[in-house]
Amino acid sequence: MKLYNSLTRQKEEFTPKDPEHVGMYTCGPTVYHFAHIGNLRSYIMEDILDRYIRYLGYGLKRVMNITDVGHLSSDGDTGEDKMLKGAKREHKSVMDIASFYTKAFFEDCAKLNIRKPDVIEPATACIGDFIKAIKILEQKGYAYQAGGNIYFDTSKLEKYYVFNDFSQEDLAIGVREGVEADANKKNPADFVLWFTKSKFEDQELKWNSPWGLGYPGWHIECSCISMKHLKDHLDIHCGGIDNAFPHHTNEIAQSEALIGHKWCDLWFHVHHLNTGGGKMSKSSGEFLTVSLLEEKGFDPLAYRFFCLQSHYRKSLLFTWENLENAANAYSKLVTKVASLLEQQPNAEKMNVLSDKAAKDPAFIACRAAFTDALDNDLNTSLAVTALYDVFKSDASPEIKLALSCDFDRVLALDLVPHAQKLLLDKAAEHVDKQWVEELIQKRNDAKAEKNYAAADAIRAELLKNNIVLQDTPNGTKWSVKA
Ligand code: AMP
Ligand code: ZN
Repeated sequence: MKLYNSLTRQKEEFTPKDPEHVGMYTCGPTVYHFAHIGNLRSYIMEDILDRYIRYLGYGLKRVMNITDVGHLSSDGDTGEDKMLKGAKREHKSVMDIASFYTKAFFEDCAKLNIRKPDVIEPATACIGDFIKAIKILEQKGYAYQAGGNIYFDTSKLEKYYVFNDFSQEDLAIGVREGVEADANKKNPADFVLWFTKSKFEDQELKWNSPWGLGYPGWHIECSCISMKHLKDHLDIHCGGIDNAFPHHTNEIAQSEALIGHKWCDLWFHVHHLNTGGGKMSKSSGEFLTVSLLEEKGFDPLAYRFFCLQSHYRKSLLFTWENLENAANAYSKLVTKVASLLEQQPNAEKMNVLSDKAAKDPAFIACRAAFTDALDNDLNTSLAVTALYDVFKSDASPEIKLALSCDFDRVLALDLVPHAQKLLLDKAAEHVDKQWVEELIQKRNDAKAEKNYAAADAIRAELLKNNIVLQDTPNGTKWSVKA
């Protein structure tokens, strides 16, 4: 597989150090609000990468942090702590906000079929690790104290601006991004490792440290959490493109200063989901959530499909019309799989790839088109085209179904479960509902009279007609047998 590496600015062959133990780190969400569908675009595309690495047979360990402290409203270390902002907005404690939005984040991920990373670590659980790392940076001469805070001294590095070819002058402006410069910094690009003093005195969460009561900077958390679980080498680090500078630049600076050698081989950055007004962002307050898509009648997986239709290194414009088109295309795909299921008497076994199917020339050719697409810098839109080509091909229905299942291990669009549901819904339409309801009423009457033999006979009669009953606290529900 070839992947674009933001560090070298070219596509490179993916060659992990140890194919059995690929190490991948993902910057997790800042949990002061719901994730918006822009954030989730990044996590969907990272999920495809995760799934494809596993599909290719590598062993993968993926680690994600949860940012519940230290991320200020400007990435240049100024402004208010985002967590505190969330807590004030909702009149709750920071930890309550963190646990509520962490849970909400993973619920959204589950709806979008985004796998849970193997390790999920909140920053507030690792304060001791951050303090230890900052002490080492101090001992090595990479950190200095000014105005009560501890800063990383970027002038001590041979090369700091790793992702960009900007001039120093451009970047000095980039660092400030319209916010006033921090007079404590020796160099404009220096960044905070530990805050004991900041513009706001009411920081809720503070910890004792050798430098006084305070809290960590945002960047140090990702370096330390990654090293805690994946040691001193990373095969892949992921994030949205806005994280490349200064967050990832600073992660590299402090990590390599700490360990004394190259840290991460490949940087995978997902470009932004934009609305007409630019990048979708939480801080603007105007953003779309998965729940809102659901309220408007969209299946969250239709949004996943929408994201897969474009390349992760291109910005993606969100409009309701574009989503509507994707939702229609997605439901057509499900319909195609449903018609394959109807032609398949042995559909239960479809998740196990049979030897016969795996050796079939049509299977091999279609699968090659799919892997060629993903091997070329994770081209998901071509991978989706490869799926359409399966339906157009003259392969047998059995092979088409086997390919749909196989591709869905990566695409994770739930094609078969959705197709099964479609068929059940279709079958339910043909049931004489009045007849079923009458029999359920008769069964309830029989049960009330303790005539269990009669009640069981009614259940059996319905089952003979493919209707299954389920007794719930809200009454008896019926459905067509799967
Ligand atoms: P945050 O919760 O702000 O820390 O962001 C979580 C992830 O979403 C990070 O990897 C960001 O780079 C990414 N992200 C933020 N905004 C967008 C956007 N509009 N489109 C895609 N990814 C984004
Ligand atoms: Zn990070």
